[in-house]
Amino acid sequence: TTFIGASVAGLGDLYAKIQVSIGASERILEILDQPVEQAALGQPTATPARFNGNVRYDHVGFSYPTRPDLQVLQNIHFEIRAGEKIALVGSSGAGKSTIAQLLMKFYKVEQGTIYVDGQNISQLPLHDLRSNLGIVPQEVLLFGGTIRENIAYGKPNATDEEVLVAAQKANALQFIQSFPEAFDTVVGERGIKLSGGQRQRIAIARAILKDPAILILDEATSSLDSESEMLVQEAMDELMKNRTTIIIAHRLATIRKVDKILVIDRGQIVEQGSHEALAHNPEGIYANLLRLQFDVQ
Ligand code: ADP
Ligand code: MG
Repeated sequence: TTFIGASVAGLGDLYAKIQVSIGASERILEILDQPVEQAALGQPTATPARFNGNVRYDHVGFSYPTRPDLQVLQNIHFEIRAGEKIALVGSSGAGKSTIAQLLMKFYKVEQGTIYVDGQNISQLPLHDLRSNLGIVPQEVLLFGGTIRENIAYGKPNATDEEVLVAAQKANALQFIQSFPEAFDTVVGERGIKLSGGQRQRIAIARAILKDPAILILDEATSSLDSESEMLVQEAMDELMKNRTTIIIAHRLATIRKVDKILVIDRGQIVEQGSHEALAHNPEGIYANLLRLQFDVQ
């Protein structure tokens, strides 16, 4: 029995570790103030300046420190002016998420430079940079706590009114108010289980409340039911208004309105332009991707 007792205790321990690691990956996704790979240079300013949201990648190349032999990005060169929206498309493993992660300073850029409002991000205090960045990740993981706490995560001193308005803009108010405890409803492991579309709208409300100049949207790969999908899309549109936005797109139908599409293949930009321009180039990769998606659907 000692042996069994010990393994059960071991399981509990394992469970605790899994909980911790889920928490950790969530925090990475949600952009905490903790540097992951790179220490911040410089002291954070007490009230970081609000950026305009100009973003420029200047001939950026990258390899992950664990795989220095593999060139993941090569000569990534583009500019997004404040308020513009761009979409990154391309097959899995092409380098889309890596492009976004470099902007968040999860890793040090060794080749080339990334600028935000003309400032080299490697010179910017991490806290100042990240307080201007919002992200809606592919898989939204909420932490154990109330809906209010989850929405107010990016702005802990938010008033109830601000949380409510953010939820409303995110198309989340209706389902939140359908719970008897509304914003005090506990979610996560010990609480109520929300659908994928509901969790995304909570993450969108969180980003609306944070009000960052720059936004990264990693589209969900798993499909939502069509009602939820419409509500999420509307909420995303609201969130993107007046913000520089980088969309990592999986469903091409959602990116027709962006200012520019960058097609990424094996770490390089192989095509770029508006949906119209790319769709009408019959030899192009994007046009081919479009045909493939429509064949599938
Ligand atoms: P995408 O988002 O387009 O699917 P990623 O940016 O996730 O592509 O991945 C690009 C390449 O980098 C892939 O070859 C992938 O295996 C590799 N990669 C991604 N993350 C890591 C990591 N943390 N460490 C090492 N290699 C990675
Ligand atoms: Mg990815």
